[in-house]
Amino acid sequence: MTAITATDTKIKELVKPGRLLINGEWVDASSSATLETINPATGEVITTFAEAGADDVDKAVASARTAFEGKWSAIPAARRGMYLAKLADLIIENGERLALLETSDNGKPYFESSKIDIPFAANVFRYFSGWADKLSGQTIPSRSDAFMFTRREPLGVVAQIIPWNLPLVMCAWKLAPALAAGNTVVLKPAEQTPLTALALGELIAEAGFPPGVVNILTGRGEVTGAALVKHKGIDKISFTGSVPVGKEIMKSAADNLTKLTLELGGKSPNIIFADANMKAALRGAINGIFYGKGELCCAGSRLLVQRECYDTVVTALQEQVAKLQVGDPFDKKTRIGALISKEQMNRVLEYVEIGKKEGAKLVAGGERVTFDNEFANGCFVAPTIFADVDNSMRIAQEEIFGPALAVIPFDSEEEALSIANDSSFGLAAAIWTSDIKRAHRLAAGLKAGTVWVNTVNMFDASLPFGGFKNSGFGRDLGEDALDGYLQTKSVWVDLTAD
Ligand code: NAP
Ligand code: MG
Repeated sequence: MTAITATDTKIKELVKPGRLLINGEWVDASSSATLETINPATGEVITTFAEAGADDVDKAVASARTAFEGKWSAIPAARRGMYLAKLADLIIENGERLALLETSDNGKPYFESSKIDIPFAANVFRYFSGWADKLSGQTIPSRSDAFMFTRREPLGVVAQIIPWNLPLVMCAWKLAPALAAGNTVVLKPAEQTPLTALALGELIAEAGFPPGVVNILTGRGEVTGAALVKHKGIDKISFTGSVPVGKEIMKSAADNLTKLTLELGGKSPNIIFADANMKAALRGAINGIFYGKGELCCAGSRLLVQRECYDTVVTALQEQVAKLQVGDPFDKKTRIGALISKEQMNRVLEYVEIGKKEGAKLVAGGERVTFDNEFANGCFVAPTIFADVDNSMRIAQEEIFGPALAVIPFDSEEEALSIANDSSFGLAAAIWTSDIKRAHRLAAGLKAGTVWVNTVNMFDASLPFGGFKNSGFGRDLGEDALDGYLQTKSVWVDLTAD
């Protein structure tokens, strides 16, 4: 591809005002309300999109219900899988368009959108396509006077609410298992990044899914999202986002006893032992926090380093971050794009001040990166590293959700484990060591939903992902994700002679 800039006409030609997808039709909000989505690298408005209100939520839920009670439940399970596999193919075919939209809307480097997010989203649909016709129950042969068996049935209409950091990937994590299991969906993307979800809506129609199986409602959380999670017609809510919003959703779900999966934030420890392959560990430390601009739920935002190699690691990190290019997300050399919004940028910069006040040592970054070209209004923050952090500091306990790393020294394995687990979160952890026994001891001892050994931020559609503690409950990906979208029915057939 030839070089593209954030203001390229190629991108402008791709976007049109976003509408709502309800029952297979693209419609405006019944109130005609619209919002704007902004390119965070330039501050430019990319386009407008509809904001769904309570009326639109009613219509979308009714359409999902009709599809669930009708066509979707009637078709053979293998056919559901074929639609999902077709959607995976269409995502790959439309990969360039989707990646252009993703990077423009989110600010992440184009190589992340095109080489990682889009193929991964397709893989997730492909993986779950294979599950659609393999969701069998059991026969339970424990009595001679009865034939007992279980059926695994879909829940019905699922509401799915997702964040802005991995917009298309999150659509895939949510939609694929729910649809494979036979549910219908009302999906709400984040207000900052509606574009790839809307493009996916077009591909869903092209893949042949019956109308109403997937409905997409754009809008703000406090309007569209709140109306959706309070709706009595919803059987299940699957939410990925922040802890405060997760708590609010749990309260609304309680009123209707709506089933709930929550994938929330993290403050994941990345633990380097002195016996580690240092080159790999350093790369892991950098990728762990700066991939995705640090706006990653599983970002390795706490770097625990064994004292013997602590000074060497901190110095090496300083040298390496100095080489990370910040700026134009479409420049091939850029490693750190624009943060999602001014609000998020200011939040990260506020944490820099908090870290300084707490007595941590700022050894890299800590400031906004500015340009005097088309990126003058961009939301760029230099890769930031605080050394000599104490785990009780706010910068070690609170999720910053940006390119800011807290480096914490430790002496022994026991101390590393204790610091790592001293967090209200438990999403992920990484260990860097050449001692296989230590790796296994820590993999068992870490209170986190995912533990990486000698690697970090690795995902596979077949490996479950989700949180311990305040990082949530329920799982995305893998066979476990299907459990969140199925319920078991027990059937007892009396066999006693009349
Ligand atoms: P957020 O503010 O919690 O928003 C997430 C979604 O919820 C958005 O679509 C948002 O809508 C919507 N929402 C907000 N208020 C709502 C309400 N009262 N009722 C219903 N929906 C509501 O989170 P975010 O800032 O977008 O994303 C960052 C967070 O997501 C971080 O904490 C991160 O760790 C977490 N995350 C977790 C995972 C995981 O798998 N565990 C993955 C990615 C991100 P609007 O944005 O449109 O207002
Ligand atoms: Mg945007």
